[in-house]
Amino acid sequence: MYQRSFWVGLALVFLMGSVSAGEHLFRVTLLGTGTPVPSVERYGYSTLVEAGEQRLLFDFGRGVTIRLSQLKIPLGSINAHFLTHFHSDHTNGLPDLWLTGWLRPAYGQRNQPFVIYGPKGLLDLTNGLSSAYAKDILTRAEDEKSPLSGIAFEPHEIEAGLIYDNQGVKVIAFNNDHGSKVKPSLGYRIEFKGHTVVLSGDTKYSEEVVRQSQGVDLLVHCVTVIPSELLKQYPQYQAIYDHLSSPEQAAQVFNEAHPREVVYSHIGLNGNATVQDLLDRTRAMYQGPLRVGEDLMVFDLMK
Ligand SMILES: [Zn+2]
Ligand SMILES: [Zn+2]
Repeated sequence: MYQRSFWVGLALVFLMGSVSAGEHLFRVTLLGTGTPVPSVERYGYSTLVEAGEQRLLFDFGRGVTIRLSQLKIPLGSINAHFLTHFHSDHTNGLPDLWLTGWLRPAYGQRNQPFVIYGPKGLLDLTNGLSSAYAKDILTRAEDEKSPLSGIAFEPHEIEAGLIYDNQGVKVIAFNNDHGSKVKPSLGYRIEFKGHTVVLSGDTKYSEEVVRQSQGVDLLVHCVTVIPSELLKQYPQYQAIYDHLSSPEQAAQVFNEAHPREVVYSHIGLNGNATVQDLLDRTRAMYQGPLRVGEDLMVFDLMK
C-alpha cells in the first residue's frame, strides 16, 4: 500500500512537473538570420516562438525545415504559421515545410490543415502552391495513404490588429515600413503570461515598431550594413536603405523603445561589411542590450 501511494505520488509530481514546464515555456529561437544571400552560416529568415504548449512559426526562409529538424521538432507539429510579407526570402522555405511536413516519417506527420496567417494576397500563394503540387499530392494520397486533411491549407488573410488568441497566447500584427511599394508588410507582437516579444519584420525605421516594442522582453530587429565607400561607389545601394534599417536607424528604434533585450536577425552585410562594423555603427548611437543573432540562438523569456 505504501509502495503504491509512493508511485502514485511520484507520477503526480512528474505530471505536475510536465504541466508547469509547458506553462512556463516562452522561448524564441532564431531559425534563420539571413537575407536572400545564399549562405551556409545564415539560413533564410525564420523565427520559432514556443509558448506554453504551442509552436508558432514566423516566416519561412530557405532551410527552415533543416533548422527545425536540427531541433528535433516534427515539421507537422507547428500549430500556426505567420507570414510578414511576400518577398521570396520569407516564403521560399514554405513549399518544403508544407509538403515535407505532410510525409509519414517522424519528421513530418501533419494530419491537420496547415494553418497560416498573412497579409492580403495569401490565398493566391496557398492556392498557387496547391495547384503547383497537385500531382505530387494526389500521388502520395493514393500511394502512401497520406491523409488529404494534412495537406490542406487553412489560410487567414489578416490586417493589423489582434489576429490570434489561443490558450493565453496573443499575436498582434502591425504595419511596419518596408518601403512605399512593398505593402502590406507586417511585424508581429507575441504576448504570453505578461511577457512579450516583437518581431520587426522587414522594415526601415518605423514609429509603429517603436510603439509596439515599448519595454518588451525581446525585440528581434532587421538590419542591413552598407559600407560608406560602397554607397559612394554604387549609389544604387541606397535603394536597400529605402527598404531596410541601417544600424543607425535600428539604434534609434532601440533608444526610443527601451526593450529589455535586443537581437538582430535578417542581417544584411553588404560588400566587405562585417559583424564588427554592425556592432560599431550601432554602438556609436546606442548603449543598451544588444546581440547579433546567429542561427539557432535561443531566448528564454520566462527567465
Ligand atoms: Zn522584404
Ligand atoms: Zn527579407
